[in-house]
Amino acid sequence: MKEITYEEIVQHVELMCQKANFDLGEDVYTAFKKALQTEKSETGIEILSQLVENADIARRDQVPMCQDTGTAVFIVELGQDCRITGGSLIEAINEGVAKGYRAGYLRSSMIYDPLNRKNTGDNTPAVIHIELVEGSQLTLHMTAKGGGAENMSSLKMLKPSDGLQGIKDYVLDVVRVAGPNACPPLVVGVGIGGNFERCAYLAKKSLFRPIGVRHSSKEIADLEEELIQQINRLGIGPQGMGGSTTALDVKIESEACHIAALPVAVNLNCHASRHQTVQLGASV
Ligand code: SF4
Repeated sequence: MKEITYEEIVQHVELMCQKANFDLGEDVYTAFKKALQTEKSETGIEILSQLVENADIARRDQVPMCQDTGTAVFIVELGQDCRITGGSLIEAINEGVAKGYRAGYLRSSMIYDPLNRKNTGDNTPAVIHIELVEGSQLTLHMTAKGGGAENMSSLKMLKPSDGLQGIKDYVLDVVRVAGPNACPPLVVGVGIGGNFERCAYLAKKSLFRPIGVRHSSKEIADLEEELIQQINRLGIGPQGMGGSTTALDVKIESEACHIAALPVAVNLNCHASRHQTVQLGASV
């Protein structure tokens, strides 16, 4: 049984929150550069250049790349042979988020209650999903998820008869309606199957896969490719100012579902697609 301390988790989470906001991942940065080679609109090229410059400045000066420093969302893979000592995993993550956002002067965007709207002051609570896995490692995947793109996300319970075409039409519709509001160029996360709540989780989870990494199933990977082409023909472009780069990538996760159902969720991520991963503990 591997032991991982509360303090160790706090320290790693604190750094993850700051790094996610200051250092745009290589996958997103490379996608900007690639889009600069293919973007057809002059305004689009100008905006993509500014996004590259913005990411460079944020990394160099260790300042957030966007004023919206996001909701701290975690997917935790908790090895069943791993034990957290000195406190609870949830409290450790939240303490790390509070420390990271305060020390990094990152905007606190979380409120206690959707009705009273009072800010919690330290960007907690984090949204934490825990998956129990084999082994003795603890893997923390974190994203600082922007509110604008989250607001334009959507879920629909399609009918099985809507089929593949229904899924494609719905994804395109969500992106079209979002227009400039989700801060394109986007990463489009799609969940297919599961049930109502599981489908939304699949869409979120898909966004943790780096840009350019296709799904292991050829059928799903082909659908990802097809949707990228179709989305980029919508003409929304960088920051919604027109162009051929509306999405940097499309990610799909799918799962078993009920015979009477075809749930589809579309979780949009903006160009500030910020994610970090750390692995603690080792096999025993
Ligand atoms: S949606 Fe993304 S790019 Fe837009 S304001 Fe929020 S974090 Fe920034």
